[in-house]
Amino acid sequence: MPVDEALARLLALADATPVIESESVVIAACEGRVLANNLVSTLDLPPWPNSAMDGYALDCADWTGEPLPVSQRIFAGQAPAPLVAGTCARIFTGAPVPAGANCVEMQENVQVQADGRIVFTELLQAGQNIRPQGQETTVGETVLTAGTRLGPIEQGLAASLGCATLEVVRRVKVAVLSTGDELVEPGQPLGPGQIYNSNRVLLCSWLTRLGCEVVDAGILPDDLPATRQRLTELGAVDLILSTGGVSVGEADFLGIALREEGELALWKLAIKPGKPLTCGYFRGVPVIGLPGNPASTLVTFALLARPYLLRRQGVQAVEALKFQVPAGFVWAKPGNRREYLRGRLEQGRAVIYKNQSSGVLRSAAWAEGLVEVLEDRTLSEGDWVGFIPLSEVLG
Ligand code: AMP
Ligand code: MG
Repeated sequence: MPVDEALARLLALADATPVIESESVVIAACEGRVLANNLVSTLDLPPWPNSAMDGYALDCADWTGEPLPVSQRIFAGQAPAPLVAGTCARIFTGAPVPAGANCVEMQENVQVQADGRIVFTELLQAGQNIRPQGQETTVGETVLTAGTRLGPIEQGLAASLGCATLEVVRRVKVAVLSTGDELVEPGQPLGPGQIYNSNRVLLCSWLTRLGCEVVDAGILPDDLPATRQRLTELGAVDLILSTGGVSVGEADFLGIALREEGELALWKLAIKPGKPLTCGYFRGVPVIGLPGNPASTLVTFALLARPYLLRRQGVQAVEALKFQVPAGFVWAKPGNRREYLRGRLEQGRAVIYKNQSSGVLRSAAWAEGLVEVLEDRTLSEGDWVGFIPLSEVLG
């Protein structure tokens, strides 16, 4: 199954089971959450015309070449009196422009006479250096739409409109299961044939960044009764996310348990790393099973599970940002699967880690992005390749 088709199917599944409940959250805690309703401005922003400069406010018709006296000083945070005709006002950045003034001249362009009167040395134009009322937004305007993911910028924007709280989609509850008899948690001694469980912490920490509520369901042994029991004990979650055990290998007990009590589709994705992916339901709860090799887990989570989870929360633009960069490497052997190499940008060109094995997570720690090599392609240096920044998909 081509990657694009797998993504389209997962998004259709997400659209069929959207998380619609919402909650009110203080803006400082909204990072990574998704806006549940349109944010409509109840203010004009700025609420009144204000000065963009430190300088002098006046009615430009009053300037006839005769120096003007200063009739008031207006700092940010003050409410000015109307401007006395034939005078100017000392004004500072962000201060309200007084009624009767229609321009601000910056202080660098004036001469202050010994008697304190002001000489303007340049041509004055109505509106100059004034930020008009409502230039950013006006009352009733939709500033952010439902489904927007909130980050520092959106939090700042909401604050500028005076919102103390925002209505956000409730957190999606995800149970993380690591399958495999060989897995041991860090901190425990490593026995023969055993490896440390790296997918668990990788996914739990990534899910937290995505605003999910994580239920860490631990390691699942390769054993059918234990698998059945663990699934049953999970309680109410929005998604069961597992790693490992999804190849057609003999230890696919998760697959068996799902078939018994739900539905299961096993997809063979045209993606490398990360060929096998399961998708199904257990007692009505959606299940996504990612391949167990750490680099495969990373790539399939980034390209498939992440957009799925964002879409469950109502985010529309879920596909990762990708831009084209010239390859700084040669790709001689065309593959029949789309490859996502762990790479970096060096002097504007994509270079790749020396070992691209799906078992090697270090490649991704070295990398800044996923370098996309399309199916059936060879590459010479300088040919264009897709580059998906990891900073983008990790956020
Ligand atoms: P599987 O999909 O279960 O056949 O696993 C594929 C490979 O990934 C095997 O080498 C596993 O040992 C490894 N693997 C599976 N799960 C994990 C995990 N949670 N952490 C690290 N490696 C894993
Ligand atoms: Mg396994």
